[in-house]
Amino acid sequence: MKNNVWVCLEQNDGKIAGVSFEMLSEARKLADQLSGKVGAVLMGAGVKELAKEAVAYGADEVYVCDDEQLKNYRTDAYTRVLEDLVKGKEPGILLLPATTNGRDLAGRLASRLEAGLAADCVALRLEDGQLVATRPIFGGNLMADVVFKKDPAMCTIRPNSLNKADPDATRGGEIVDVAVVSEEDKIRTQVKEILAKAAGEISLTDAQIIVSGGRGLGDASGFDLIREFAKELGAAVGASRAAVDAGWIPYEHQVGQTGKTVGPKLYIACGISGALQHLAGMKTSDVIVAINKDEEAPIFGVANYGIVGDLYKVIPIMIEEYKKV
Ligand code: FAD
Repeated sequence: MKNNVWVCLEQNDGKIAGVSFEMLSEARKLADQLSGKVGAVLMGAGVKELAKEAVAYGADEVYVCDDEQLKNYRTDAYTRVLEDLVKGKEPGILLLPATTNGRDLAGRLASRLEAGLAADCVALRLEDGQLVATRPIFGGNLMADVVFKKDPAMCTIRPNSLNKADPDATRGGEIVDVAVVSEEDKIRTQVKEILAKAAGEISLTDAQIIVSGGRGLGDASGFDLIREFAKELGAAVGASRAAVDAGWIPYEHQVGQTGKTVGPKLYIACGISGALQHLAGMKTSDVIVAINKDEEAPIFGVANYGIVGDLYKVIPIMIEEYKKV
């Protein structure tokens, strides 16, 4: 295996996403064991200033691809740029975030490079100098160790699953400007409009605390209570598929097998039964609290703390108690 470890950084609205720092911290550990370097790829428009942050978190070289064409994520454009870089520099390991964009990019790139891709990994280690990636399978019921037959070993990394090191602003690193060849006519998508999140809303994948609501809310207005609770805790709002399918909250809030995979420090499930497909997306949370009026609900099987009761009675009491803290 070649010894350089690369990270494809995710930035949104000029801010590097937390999972990027987690990947850089892990890449640093791996590269030190392999006596290699950490490379980071930063794509976007007007993003060059962010490169210093990547250096502080362990990058030796940051390849900055700063171009209007890369302003918004587009599969064709991002794949083209990253493919050229990887083919030119040949890292042994390439980490991407298991976010909506990262998953999309990783799949396309792996196919172009004919490389193996382990998706949604939660741990990485080296054995005899070879990468072993651990990822949940069968809805999170088993953990699989994946090994790679050829370079680069590609992994997408589940946010909040790896430890983030403390940044060191005094670290030195090289910032390399990469010229982006203009091929707009070959890019098959155009971004017409970006629908901004409601002001102050916390992104699910970055959140340390998530309050999720399910069918037990009864109707869409139940999410007003969930949002109030989330605001009090500085939490993001999640939802079960039943709540999303009912049209009570947009799909981007869905947690689970066909929604987002999250791993916050605290996950509070309100009126959610705990179907396997929901658990697949949140089971690795550090602490799970369930509020459900049915003491037999399967969610209590994975919860660290369970409150059997009507969420409309329990949550207002919890909000009042948090206000006192
Ligand atoms: P329910 O199962 O109806 O549970 C509602 C719960 O609320 C019950 O346990 C009830 O006791 C409780 N309750 C009711 N009233 C109150 C109250 N006043 N106070 C407290 N508790 C109350 N689901 C997902 O969530 N995410 C996915 O990504 C996902 N992907 C899927 C993919 C496939 C291929 C399939 C087949 C299904 C998928 N599902 C997914 C659906 C999943 O199987 C469940 O149907 C869904 O998670 C149920 O949502 P729920 O827990 O909100 O609703």
